[in-house]
Amino acid sequence: MNKNYCPICGRQHKTKKFTFNSKLKLISSNFKKINNKKNYYVCKNFEFIYAKQTAKRRKIINDIYKDFTFKNNLIKPSREIIIANEIKKKFRKNMSVLEIGPGNGELINCLSKFKNIINIDAYDINKNKFFNLNKVKKFKNLFINLNKIYHKYDLVIMNQVFFHLDKLDKTMNKISELLDDNGHLFLITPNPFKHKVIYYVYDIFSISSKKNIISYLNRYNLNLKNDLSYLLKNQISLIFKKNFSNRVRGEKFISKYKKTQISFASEISKLKHKKITINGMGLKGNFIFNNYKKSVFQIKDEFRKINKVFKKNFKKKSKLFELKTY
Ligand SMILES: [Zn+2]
Repeated sequence: MNKNYCPICGRQHKTKKFTFNSKLKLISSNFKKINNKKNYYVCKNFEFIYAKQTAKRRKIINDIYKDFTFKNNLIKPSREIIIANEIKKKFRKNMSVLEIGPGNGELINCLSKFKNIINIDAYDINKNKFFNLNKVKKFKNLFINLNKIYHKYDLVIMNQVFFHLDKLDKTMNKISELLDDNGHLFLITPNPFKHKVIYYVYDIFSISSKKNIISYLNRYNLNLKNDLSYLLKNQISLIFKKNFSNRVRGEKFISKYKKTQISFASEISKLKHKKITINGMGLKGNFIFNNYKKSVFQIKDEFRKINKVFKKNFKKKSKLFELKTY
């Protein structure tokens, strides 16, 4: 029997593989097809799917983020403005804030304009080139090692990072430690049942359902205070409070997610027989374009100033079909 320490629950249990049953190709940030399948495993204790850190996976990660700029992810109106305004509404007292994985720093920039935000720190695994916060007065420290942080915070923000985090158990333990006794965690992460393309366009370390994430975070003394499902389309948006009493039971996720993936692949495969105009060339638009190039007659994106016609695909008799991917 092959037993391993599970990076989700930190316990030793049997390893079971999870395979995505799909012929669709992964897409890199420079919009090329990646001919590689990611390997996933199952944490049966919390019904999470997770990846192991292997040389193959590292290669896929490098391929996915080859040419990553935050421009590829432009969403209008900015997700970060919506999140910042929600923080303004929900938290009135003076706060010190830590953001995990700040991306291009847009959220920090928005938050620094609020009176009750006293100072903001950030943690990222690398000092990346998109990070330009030196001019933001309230921004103090960029940490590259969580274990080297000795402050406590009133609010920790994890926006689009939870599913990327390696060694989730250890990381969440530390994040809980970094929170003040009555501190809050604001977690925003893609909903795998709604944001179905994530597997093909991002590196995912782990995914599970909203209920399972809530139940999982209970073990780090982080309990659900607000479920802000109205806030952002296709996202799970939750506020947790440390040492607050609100226990939630987990649910079956793995089998349900497998079905979601199969139906997504079959839904997408129907596009093969159509003559498509893709409206919106973000991650999903590029994913469809690269997987079904021969069916695409036109790609357009007002925001990114893209408008291209592929005349050789015009011969098909089928009716022109506009696919909106916003
Ligand atoms: Zn486990």
